[in-house]
Amino acid sequence: MSDGAHASAAHAGTPAPAGRSAVVVGGGLAGITAALALADAGVRVTLLEGRPRLGGLAFSFQRGDLTVDNGQHVYLRCCTAYRWFLDRIEGAALAPLQDRLDVPVLDVNRPEGRRLGRLRRDALPVPLHLGRSLATYPHLSLAERAAVGRAALALKGLDLADPTLDTQDFGSWLAAHGQSARAVEALWDLVGVATLNAVAGDASLGLAAMVFKTGLLSDPGAADIGWAHVPLGELHDRLARKALDSAGVRTEVRTRVTSVSNNENGTWSVQVPGETLRADTVVLAVPQRETHDLLPPGALDAPEQLLRIGTAPILNVHVVYDRKVLARPFFAALGTPVQWVFDRTDASGLAEGQYLALSQSAAQDEIDAPVAELRERYLPELERLVPGTRGAAVKDFFVTRERTATFAPTPGVGRLRPGARTKAPGLYLAGAWTATGWPATMESAVRSGVSAADAALSALGRPRPRHLFEFEEAA
Ligand SMILES: Cc1cc2nc3c(=O)[nH]c(=O)nc-3n(C[C@H](O)[C@H](O)[C@H](O)COP(=O)(O)OP(=O)(O)OC[C@H]3O[C@@H](n4cnc5c(N)ncnc54)[C@H](O)[C@@H]3O)c2cc1C
Repeated sequence: MSDGAHASAAHAGTPAPAGRSAVVVGGGLAGITAALALADAGVRVTLLEGRPRLGGLAFSFQRGDLTVDNGQHVYLRCCTAYRWFLDRIEGAALAPLQDRLDVPVLDVNRPEGRRLGRLRRDALPVPLHLGRSLATYPHLSLAERAAVGRAALALKGLDLADPTLDTQDFGSWLAAHGQSARAVEALWDLVGVATLNAVAGDASLGLAAMVFKTGLLSDPGAADIGWAHVPLGELHDRLARKALDSAGVRTEVRTRVTSVSNNENGTWSVQVPGETLRADTVVLAVPQRETHDLLPPGALDAPEQLLRIGTAPILNVHVVYDRKVLARPFFAALGTPVQWVFDRTDASGLAEGQYLALSQSAAQDEIDAPVAELRERYLPELERLVPGTRGAAVKDFFVTRERTATFAPTPGVGRLRPGARTKAPGLYLAGAWTATGWPATMESAVRSGVSAADAALSALGRPRPRHLFEFEEAA
């Protein structure tokens, strides 16, 4: 670690510096957010990240000339905290939203061959904004479309504050509300698997209802999709780092925290290899298992519960063709193992040909499959879906595997997720897996970082920065 970190946090044994200091552990979106919020409130902040870069689970790496994202990330217009974050790091223009929700959905298993449908919205109030799209959605029968409409209204009526929702699974609720297996596949799972990282049968009704109510049944534009038109690292590493530097945060990468302990005078000691940092406030913004291992005794009533929060994998399959094969920026697929396909050509810096990334959520069955097997499975599927690939040469084929991409949104997970406050004064938790009410998303990560900073600032008696993301009042 460079000497820089000492400016914000004192060595153990030396008096704590005047003013307030904080150490944030973990440089994912949650930790970056907490660090920015605390620094904006005048706290002297040190951010410690074990890896060589910021961005946590949403990052980029080089593969020859190609800049590759570890996994395709999208967000929705209703992700107000992540959008605040993009603004705060001056990156919003690099990850624009669609003007209006429009998802091409291609089914390759129809008797008549390939069939394209679209999920899009009109400029009408909720729920009419989706009415026309649903009424003409070709991947469902008339009866199924009517049943989907009824289930959507029933979903809209669910009270997200009702804790019993989290004890039920979404799949059973859908079946009880007249949804056929086809409706689950062609609509509910199409959206749900990508946002929850689980099929309906494995997902908490509470989390699923939250996603569908917020995304599709709140504001007409809520589900408009946005994604980075640059590598994720440009946003979550380079621009985030620039914002942190300007806010006065000392950021140390390649610096893994090995323990966190409280001192008798109420300050905290944070151990990194070779030295100890001291601070008034510590935010642990690391995944649940690492949090469990770093938590000092007594900080949570039942710390072992953190280990009961499961994880779920996401696989990305990357294919570089020698020519342009696809005109759309992205599409979703039915009747094939392929889930969502994105054109990554421009963002990756590819000079010639086209680079497609397949995002495969809830990938438990494939996450450890050999590359050769995945190649054999996915290239023919792409030929079925994207006629332009037939006859095109594959210049590169590789996969990225994130075994612990998200927490598993299983029924019952809600009561395992802790809030930002711990029982240890001055110690706070952040991370997409904490109790934000959201599934494991960039939105959840940013919200958790804001919550942790809010809790810390109120304990430190410091005013909230005026421009910090504001949580909406509960209805
Ligand atoms: C392939 C993939 C696709 C995804 N797709 C989407 C999507 O489309 N939309 C969406 O919203 N979300 C998506 N997500 C989820 C999203 O990336 C995460 O929810 C979010 O980035 C989590 O941020 P975080 O800060 O909570 O945690 P993390 O990103 O896990 O950050 C924690 C950080 O702590 C560091 N750390 C751990 N231990 C220590 C230690 N002891 N000392 C110092 N540092 C430590 C880690 O290195 C890491 O950088 C996807 C995730 C993956 C993997």
